[in-house]
Amino acid sequence: MGYKSGRHFLQIPGPTNVPDRVLRAISQATIDHRGPDFSQLALEVFHGLQKIFKTTGTVVIYPSSGTGAWEASLVNTLSPGDKVLMFETGYFAALWRNVALKLGLEVDFVPGDWRHGVDPTVVEKKLAADRDRKIKAVTVVHNETSTGATSRVQEVRKAIDRANHPALLIVDTISSLASIDYRHDEWGVDVTVCCSQKGLMLPPGLGLNAVSSKALEASKSARLPRSYWDWEAMIRDNKMGFFPYTPATNLLYGLREALRMLLDEGLDRVFARHLRHAEATRRAVRAWGLEILCLNLDEYSPALTTVVIPEGHDADALRKVVLERFDMSLGTGLGKLKGKVFRIGHLGDFNDLMLAGTLCGVEMGLSLAGIPYSKGGVTVALDFLSSR
Ligand SMILES: *Cc1c(COP(=O)(O)O)cnc(C)c1O
Repeated sequence: MGYKSGRHFLQIPGPTNVPDRVLRAISQATIDHRGPDFSQLALEVFHGLQKIFKTTGTVVIYPSSGTGAWEASLVNTLSPGDKVLMFETGYFAALWRNVALKLGLEVDFVPGDWRHGVDPTVVEKKLAADRDRKIKAVTVVHNETSTGATSRVQEVRKAIDRANHPALLIVDTISSLASIDYRHDEWGVDVTVCCSQKGLMLPPGLGLNAVSSKALEASKSARLPRSYWDWEAMIRDNKMGFFPYTPATNLLYGLREALRMLLDEGLDRVFARHLRHAEATRRAVRAWGLEILCLNLDEYSPALTTVVIPEGHDADALRKVVLERFDMSLGTGLGKLKGKVFRIGHLGDFNDLMLAGTLCGVEMGLSLAGIPYSKGGVTVALDFLSSR
């Protein structure tokens, strides 16, 4: 295939569109990561990240994918055989559970239908029943990127408190941070897990942990083996703006730029923008007569919308025609949702006309793929976008 003119639409829910400003920042010359210029860069990045996580505590940055940051959250706080309460909210929750199992943790995996977030009442019930305090951590995926359902982290915190249980609260915000309201300190989260390629608008390659003082305390007696992921050396060197091993210098340039952009726009405005684009998308989906996978109105994701394809039709055939004809990538159905759903990412560096183009591509694709639908979803979305 030859050159394709115009810009590719990367409408998967991560990696997201990387803004030109960030790409240019990344293209600067790599510098000595033990020199004075580097420490300035690192200190600015740590300071900015605190504002994004809404914490006055420690943030750790790894050269890694999100999966590495998952592993880091567990190996730094837990010991072999420790019990962890996890919830099957979707594909990513199931992958995180596999990480825990491979590390030798005992997982109580609460089954779910992949159409809801974590039920706080189940958290409370499970913890209240745990009289010997065997559960050492509760994990929650804030925004299940496979389903488009969010979990109510603040309510999970309240449920843990009502049970008066000492378990750590560990939250995956990989596809929510800097897109959906999130407050590490205020919500009493012990470890927040994130990475670079979704709401933070960077290419893949940085893994993040925000760490509470309770989690730091737990790390002193945690006995799971750890070396690369060890918070201790990281935090020691980070204080001076350095790292115990070579950091991803160029991605840190990009992160500094992305943080400046987010803070300049203002987090509240960023969150409102995501809510608005999600609402417009759902209006289009309903007008097409298609089903939204998430069943709980309070848990609709502001970052992506997962759309169910009518029985007997293949969501990946739709994705294929949209890619070939309109140069747009839509998210595939993951795990047991393969072929049954597609996902529209509307997070990151995004605006009304990009959303309009995205929905146009979907509507034309539905037609070309022969999927039964009602015309006019785009018009309904445009009416919503232009009404306010
Ligand atoms: C993307 C994603 C991950 C996985 O991150 P990788 O960088 O692919 O390791 C984990 N959790 C959630 C919620 C995600 O969206």
